[in-house]
Amino acid sequence: MKTAVIRLSQAQLNLLELCPPQFQRVYLEQLGSPIEPEVQESLLWGNQFHQLMQQHFLGLSIDSILEVDQDLKKIVEALLRAVSEQHNLNSDCWTEAEHYRGLEKENYLLTAIYDLLIINENKAQILDWKTYLQPQNKKKLENNWQTKLYLYLLAETSNYLPEQISLTYWFVKIPHEPQCLTFEYSDKLHQEYTKELEFLLINLDEYLLNLNENNLNFPHNKNCENNCPYYNLFFSKINNIENDNNNLLSIIDEIEEVSI
Ligand code: SF4
Repeated sequence: MKTAVIRLSQAQLNLLELCPPQFQRVYLEQLGSPIEPEVQESLLWGNQFHQLMQQHFLGLSIDSILEVDQDLKKIVEALLRAVSEQHNLNSDCWTEAEHYRGLEKENYLLTAIYDLLIINENKAQILDWKTYLQPQNKKKLENNWQTKLYLYLLAETSNYLPEQISLTYWFVKIPHEPQCLTFEYSDKLHQEYTKELEFLLINLDEYLLNLNENNLNFPHNKNCENNCPYYNLFFSKINNIENDNNNLLSIIDEIEEVSI
C-alpha cells in the first residue's frame, strides 16, 4: 500500500529542526497555542499587505485602496519603485505573484509559495515581502529554512543553475523606507542544503516510525534539553494516536508562516 505523502513547508522544517516535540504537538496533534492579540494584529496587517501586492502584480488596480490611506500609499509606491529599479523589472521579465513550487522527495512533498517570482532569460529572482524592519542578524535569516528551502526548490524544479537564482527579502514598515536583503545561491550551497534536508527527513522518518509503532514521543534536541523551560511539558504519553500509519501522517498539513 502506498504511504501518504506529507506536505512540508519552511515553517514545518524550521520547527522540526528547532524542537521536534513541539513539531509533534503542533502538526501531529494539532495543539497550537492561542495567538496573542498583538501578534494577531500584525498577522492581519501582513496578510493584507501580501494581498495588496498580489493584486498589483496580477495587473489589478490598487489605487482605490491606497487613496484612503496616505501612509500606506507612500510606502507601497516607494516599495514598487525600489523593486522595479533593484530587479530591473521590464517587459522582458515574466512575473508571477504567489507562485507555487512543490517537489516530492521520498514520502514528503516539499512546498513553497513565492510572494513574487521574476524570470529573465539568464536569472530567476524570488522576492518575499516582510512587514517588519530588517533584522540585524543576517546569518539567522540565511539559516532559516525559508531561505534555504525557497532557493533549493527553484534549483531542483527549474532549468536555472543555482548561480542564476537569488532570493530577496523586502522589509516594509510604515513610516520607514523599504529595505532589502539578497541571498545569492550557488552550487556549493545547493549541495549543503541538500544534505541538511536529507538529514532532517531521515530523522523525521525515524521519529514517525517510533511514534507510530512504539508510541514514543518525538525526542528533544540533545543540545538544548538542559536549558529549556519547556522540557518537561512534553513528557505526557500520547494516548490518542491511531495505529494506522496513513491516518497519523495525513493530518499534517501546510501552515504558511507570515514572518520569521
Ligand atoms: S529542550 Fe525545549 S526547545 Fe529543545 S527540543 Fe526540547 S522542548 Fe524543544
